[in-house]
Amino acid sequence: MNHSASGHCSCGNTTLNLSLPLPVTDLTPRACDCDFCVSHQAAYLSHPEGQLQLASKMPFRTKQQGSKQAQFLFCSSCNDLIAVICQIRGEYKGTVSARYLSEYSFMKEALPISPKVLSPKEKWTRWEQMWMPVAITNR
Ligand SMILES: [Zn+2]
Repeated sequence: MNHSASGHCSCGNTTLNLSLPLPVTDLTPRACDCDFCVSHQAAYLSHPEGQLQLASKMPFRTKQQGSKQAQFLFCSSCNDLIAVICQIRGEYKGTVSARYLSEYSFMKEALPISPKVLSPKEKWTRWEQMWMPVAITNR
């Protein structure tokens, strides 16, 4: 892991740290086209060989929607949508909202995606291939 990216939510209670095998500006965020993600202007970023560390002063507020396979993590203070995680084979994997990384303005434009057309099984497979391990700590 030679590259990293970091950021925080609007209120600063939650910090994000990302380790990556390549520069974050080489990755393309993905904008899910479901109503929920559009309403949060979410642009998700992950790399299967990366690692995501989330640290928050308070427990995250979590929410499930759509096929209810994944958990959406919100800062419980400012309500920013920080990441989406899912337990896959006993391990938390996830994708981070690129919007809160300090490198966001230098990143590529988000590519629209439409995971809602996938079956639940197809989603697991896709997430297992694309998402990265997530560690959550309190600070
Ligand atoms: Zn916050």
